Amino acid sequence: MHRERVSENVFWFQSEVYAQVTAGVIAGPQWAVVIDTLALPEETIAIREFVEHELNLQVRYVINTHYHADHTWGNCFFPGATVIAHSLCRQLLIERGVPSLESMRKQNQAFRQVKIILPQLTFSQGTMTLRVGKKNLTISPATGHSHDGISVLVDEDRVLFAGDAFMPIPYLVDGNAEDIAASIRRIGRMGLENIIQGHGDIILRGEIDAAIRENLNYIANIRKVVKTAKRRKYPQDYLDQMNIESCGKSRVHLGGLAEELHRRNLRGLLQQTIEEEKKEKAEKPK
Ligand SMILES: [Zn+2]
Repeated sequence: MHRERVSENVFWFQSEVYAQVTAGVIAGPQWAVVIDTLALPEETIAIREFVEHELNLQVRYVINTHYHADHTWGNCFFPGATVIAHSLCRQLLIERGVPSLESMRKQNQAFRQVKIILPQLTFSQGTMTLRVGKKNLTISPATGHSHDGISVLVDEDRVLFAGDAFMPIPYLVDGNAEDIAASIRRIGRMGLENIIQGHGDIILRGEIDAAIRENLNYIANIRKVVKTAKRRKYPQDYLDQMNIESCGKSRVHLGGLAEELHRRNLRGLLQQTIEEEKKEKAEKPK
């Protein structure tokens, strides 16, 4: 696991085993806040050990940016902490997280020690603020990767933990294109020093504008590709020809995982578009 100090009392962690997923720690004078847990128990436990032994603090709050396993399944390793999330995150953990962990346990022994811990403190509208020492954390919705996405802004440092609303390649199979584009545009207007992506490396101030443009451009491109595919007799055949580079992204992102995510984006977006059309037709008065 990589670890870096982002600013005073703000730390960043990145997995070396699963999809470069990231987490954060904000340290106060008496206690600390963890933002997201990592995919494997051992990595999450290493974060806790850093907080307890290097910072000499206990974790009082864990914020989950969304319900996906690689961001929430480590909640159980902070037994004294209160978990904060969007109310929809709680609901999705019950509906999908619990059965998904059940089947994961059968495949991988490491997950036998994992228990789903549901967020105790949730919000569904507006923003929530959490004061940690001298720092103000503003927690607000950042949807599009999933419908329960939230981001955490360290106000004083202009550092944003964006969750998966911002990734080296936008991934929208469990969300939708319009929402993720809106989230990315909003992030672009925040005047940030750093974007901490849910996966991948930290984006520095000088790189932010280009990253925003590239991600918005990618979303526009895949929407165009899917629109064209839908008019073809065999849409999937057309999608198969459109690799990640043809949509303005490089496959080297996320340790080579990017092309696979791109493929799933095209398939998912086509499915979403077809379903939306069906719904529109059904709603039209006869
Ligand atoms: Zn993720």
